[in-house]
Amino acid sequence: MVNYTLMISADLENLTNLQPQGGCDDSAFAYYFKLKCGNCGEVSPKETCLSLNETVPIPKSRGTTNLVQKCKFCDREGTVTMITGRGQPLTQEASEAGKSSRLMVFDCRGFEPLEFAFYGGWKVESVAGTTYDDVDLSAGEFAEYDEKGECPVMISNLRASFSVTKS
Ligand SMILES: [Zn+2]
Repeated sequence: MVNYTLMISADLENLTNLQPQGGCDDSAFAYYFKLKCGNCGEVSPKETCLSLNETVPIPKSRGTTNLVQKCKFCDREGTVTMITGRGQPLTQEASEAGKSSRLMVFDCRGFEPLEFAFYGGWKVESVAGTTYDDVDLSAGEFAEYDEKGECPVMISNLRASFSVTKS
């Protein structure tokens, strides 16, 4: 079984604990990324959207999964299942150390995930204690002035990647 772990990193100026609005396991948060077919190599033209509160039955099986998708090119069907409990917010310490944070693990059958897109609402805290809700990161950055800490706060250099974990 091959799992893909979504890792994010960013430069955080006077900010910490960057995560999806309700946490990494927020059931309503939508993770957007493209899928590459493991059979023919075709990449889906648009991002696919997955969230924990959307489940579908696995074809010809008993369990449920978060996505069943058919490759438009070769008709091969694949599934993506989200594995909860592994994510953690991106802290300022990790960011300064040049480390990435693990957000979510995906069990992908028949597809390989790529090109995660930072859509949806995000939450981040300033080091002075201000919480910013529903932050839009789709433009790739965020900048504000923190009244409490009397300093600028900024998210920049956002990056995401999927690392392969075999289990
Ligand atoms: Zn295909």
